[in-house]
Amino acid sequence: MINIAIDGPSGAGKSTIGKMLAARLGITYLDTGAMYRAVALYVVSKGVSPLDEKAVIPLLDEITISFSDTPERNILLNGEDVSTAIRRHDISKAASDVSKIPAVRMFLVAMQRRIAAESDVVLDGRDITSYVLPDAKFKFFLTADVEERARRRFEELRAKGADIDYETVLADIKDRDHNDSHRAFAPLTKTEDSVLIDSTRLSADQVAEVITDYVLGKKKKGQE
Ligand code: C5P
Repeated sequence: MINIAIDGPSGAGKSTIGKMLAARLGITYLDTGAMYRAVALYVVSKGVSPLDEKAVIPLLDEITISFSDTPERNILLNGEDVSTAIRRHDISKAASDVSKIPAVRMFLVAMQRRIAAESDVVLDGRDITSYVLPDAKFKFFLTADVEERARRRFEELRAKGADIDYETVLADIKDRDHNDSHRAFAPLTKTEDSVLIDSTRLSADQVAEVITDYVLGKKKKGQE
């Protein structure tokens, strides 16, 4: 199976690139962040704090995550398409909180590994190269300056009509960076064997091109 693993902080462009790569290479795209967001959405909808580990764990038995058969592969939570709801600003923070709980991670990682074993897939997340698929053939760490990442997220949220200011988005991204890199279990980290790509001054097309070159063997690690 061809597995392409992409890790990086929030707003680095992982999901945009993941989708572009999947389309270019004719393989499946798996947005693992969406899975954490779906769990967070369920937890919040039950009135439970995403930080309350004891209350969150039993809820996992009530959650089934799947993806639509359409080309968009929208995420389904207990059969319902939640692809829009999970992008809410409050759910970003809740996802970051719920993702600290080891039982949540085990629940989702088992699913991610199963999907990767069964199909050619590009996965993006925080722990794909280090924990979910350490033996993936292609591993990338995609990042960008924090201000640029905040700017992209801000524009994305504004385009969806969210009433939010840039400073709030920047503070939230910094908070999530800290959360994601400092949690005890499977924190965000660049593995030594991942190719580092800084997208601060690159368009999504340029990043997809660079990664495609590695996957097709036109570029080798060490040439970044
Ligand atoms: O990538 P996205 O911003 O949608 O992810 C939402 C949250 O889920 C992240 O802030 C991160 O805390 C968590 N996450 C994770 N591991 C992954 C993917 C996402 O902990 N593989």
